[in-house]
Amino acid sequence: MTDKKGYYGQWGGAFIPEVLHETFVQLNAAYNDARADSAFWKEYIALMGSYSCRPTPLTHVENLSRHFNGAQIFVKREDLNHTGAHKANNVMGQGLLVRRMGKKRVIAETGAGQHGVATATMAARFGFECTIYMGEEDVMRQRPNVFWMEKLGATVVPVTSGARTLKDAMNEAFRDWVTSMDDTHYVIGTVCGPHPFPEMVAWFQSIIGSEARKQITEVFGKLPSRVYACVGGGSNAMGVFQGFLDDPDVELIGVEAGGKGLETGRHATRLTGDDASAGVAQGYKTMFLQDDDGQMRDTHSVAAGLDYIGVSPILTDLWEKGRVRFATATDDEVMNALDLTMKKEGIIPALESAHAFVQAYKEAGELTPDDAIIINMSGRGDKDIFTIAHAFGDPSWKEFIREKGAEYAAEK
Ligand SMILES: *Cc1c(COP(=O)(O)O)cnc(C)c1O
Repeated sequence: MTDKKGYYGQWGGAFIPEVLHETFVQLNAAYNDARADSAFWKEYIALMGSYSCRPTPLTHVENLSRHFNGAQIFVKREDLNHTGAHKANNVMGQGLLVRRMGKKRVIAETGAGQHGVATATMAARFGFECTIYMGEEDVMRQRPNVFWMEKLGATVVPVTSGARTLKDAMNEAFRDWVTSMDDTHYVIGTVCGPHPFPEMVAWFQSIIGSEARKQITEVFGKLPSRVYACVGGGSNAMGVFQGFLDDPDVELIGVEAGGKGLETGRHATRLTGDDASAGVAQGYKTMFLQDDDGQMRDTHSVAAGLDYIGVSPILTDLWEKGRVRFATATDDEVMNALDLTMKKEGIIPALESAHAFVQAYKEAGELTPDDAIIINMSGRGDKDIFTIAHAFGDPSWKEFIREKGAEYAAEK
């Protein structure tokens, strides 16, 4: 899929400071070594089976299939992973690799906190020291996730430089790494960043697609016509797509965050429309949402996990080659799809995952009951009750929060 320097077509690469050169040589060697060692993958599969409910089910959502009167809709249930999302696949895989390299400490940066919680969970399980960098602004906004990271034994460092959000946390994590690389691994959370991260994270996530391919063949007797996944950095999408990349009849659809609508500029849409442009940042080349001077733009999505300026170089290449089609879902469409999925099936997708549902629902009626489509449900929504209740503008929830606030205020 990639050449030696980690390029996918013109995208990707490894733009790293000279001091990290040796660390990347070592990481590449450890990764290639693990990849060539079938015992490593077996150990990974066993770990995910005993710690994270794998293989995750493929659910035939019959009520929704009837509702749209088109394709049979199947949902790949990554929400049933430990910690509630596909992020577990990546962090547990990197955990095994860290142990293999003999390192004792992991660091990560996180915006919404989901990758921080997953990394802290992995560190607890493997007995690693763990430091999570998070913009001070995000620490305030994402208190429930910060709470869990700390309870899981991680040190959360609020970053006070710049805009005090994800980009600043990323800079701080790199600053840590250049002084600590001998015993520390930087756990990147998605299929982005310098080589070998995109390829390595895609490898761990490929477990989704290989399971899904086997499952749909067993229950439906043939491959699906279309596979849908939401795209933030692109790891859950790459995970499920890899099961079908070599099947030209299976159409692959990535769904980006349309936020308030493309025309408002308040979105995180890189490959649909023409708001993004090619650039090099954060160690790799891809399509970034940036202004004419190369300054990264502010992005917006109701789903924190999709709210990102870049996108996987692997997906950008597949987009350029026409293998993956891209679409966007707006915040409003996402809330409607979430509502329908809960009411019809008793399934609560994460706000991120609901983007994939939006596009699948728009297209299900174009197909017949002889066709199957798969929606990759990257995570579950019930853990995000603060965000989702807020996004629905639920009045009794607001009242509940006000009363809790008053209770705590009275304690002071
Ligand atoms: C983090 C996250 C995403 C976005 O990340 P990708 O790398 O694009 O998969 C999507 N869904 C959920 C539930 C997440 O937690």
